[in-house]
Amino acid sequence: MTSTSDSAHSSSAFETLQHEAVELTRSLLRIDSVNTGIAETIGDGETRAARFVQERLTEVGIESELIEPRSGRGSVVARLRGSDPSAGALVVHAHLDVVPVEGQEWTHPPFGGEVHDGWLYGRGAVDMKNFAGTILAVARHFARHSITPRRDLIFAFLADEEAGGVWGASWLVDNRPELFAGATEALSEVGGFSIPLDEGRRAYLAATSEKGVAWATLTARGRAAHGSRPTEDNAVVRLAKAVAAVGEHSFPVVRTPALQAFLDRFGAARGLAFSNDSLEHDLSQLGFVSSLIGASLRNTATPTVLSAGSKTNIIPGEATAWLDIRVLPGQDEALKEGLREVVGDDIDIRWGRWWSATEAAVDAPLLAVLQSAITEQDPDGLVVPYLLPASTDNKHFARLGIAGYGFVPLRVPEGFDVFGQFHSADERIPVESLEFSARVTERVLREA
Ligand SMILES: [Zn+2]
Repeated sequence: MTSTSDSAHSSSAFETLQHEAVELTRSLLRIDSVNTGIAETIGDGETRAARFVQERLTEVGIESELIEPRSGRGSVVARLRGSDPSAGALVVHAHLDVVPVEGQEWTHPPFGGEVHDGWLYGRGAVDMKNFAGTILAVARHFARHSITPRRDLIFAFLADEEAGGVWGASWLVDNRPELFAGATEALSEVGGFSIPLDEGRRAYLAATSEKGVAWATLTARGRAAHGSRPTEDNAVVRLAKAVAAVGEHSFPVVRTPALQAFLDRFGAARGLAFSNDSLEHDLSQLGFVSSLIGASLRNTATPTVLSAGSKTNIIPGEATAWLDIRVLPGQDEALKEGLREVVGDDIDIRWGRWWSATEAAVDAPLLAVLQSAITEQDPDGLVVPYLLPASTDNKHFARLGIAGYGFVPLRVPEGFDVFGQFHSADERIPVESLEFSARVTERVLREA
């Protein structure tokens, strides 16, 4: 059940909603909230953005709390009561920080919020001030028209996602879990954008699962010696062999529920079998989509940093490599065993950060709501679950037993790779897509 006043569905109400989604997004883009991940170089942009959000909520009578665990690292949380007290609350979250722009060539200023030829440019245009602006506009729409959503909605505008959520979602989950009391599901990035399906039809990817992140170091030890007297026991050589083995290794494909749901639904629509033998070939037919789905097939371990020795004529006793590892749901132990086999027994493996993958149901009722909201705006659009080969704040909410989904609805021109916009120069989004996003999100949040 939802209750709405008569004016809520008038075209002028929707025009205001769409207009606000665009303008609030532009305002947020103009607040430089770059998160470098290094405390000394982070300003107060997140708190300024959080204050902006809070003021826009206060204007329409929505109470909120601004939480600032460290100076400049502000987040805002507000709860709208739903009509069905038996329904679990839905956390709707968007991060207010963005990644740096240094070393990139931008055609239009990254913090200008400028529109050119129907495209809105700016750091955060897709990641993810667009959704922050959209859900803020929807909350204001609900307040203005006395719309009561079905379930409690917990709006969370968060700091620090781009550096792991330490001062944002992770801090709130650890220190203020009562803010999320009663929540069963969460909705945020990364998904909801359209990709080509067939004959002008579009699929809208819904992330139901996210890969985990594990950091490891490999250390080889050997006999330190002078470079003029080579030894059989050279740590640099042993480490180099292990690193090369990791780089060349391909972990096995795992048909996780999210991957299987993608292959079943997308494959049926496209007439692709995605059998074990044809999988890689069939994926290669999907254009830019293939790299996104291709990264979700298996665990990966990528060497990124090397450290050994300091002088050309001295063989060091120790050599170390850092690995960035991305783990599928349910694969933590298999990954550890697999990596041990690849590097061999004489390499010391140390584990650092370990965030396990998240996994939500691929057949949850929420997905049916997403589908009907899409169908209303794009009658042939098909919502398709997938596994996000990256990590979002959903992993922190998972610690409270909250099932996270990634769905920021965006109908985009065919061939426009939204995922490719993340962290890139000239990050941009069509204004029309933002308006579409506002219409779909309004219905999703009302009926979820
Ligand atoms: Zn993001």
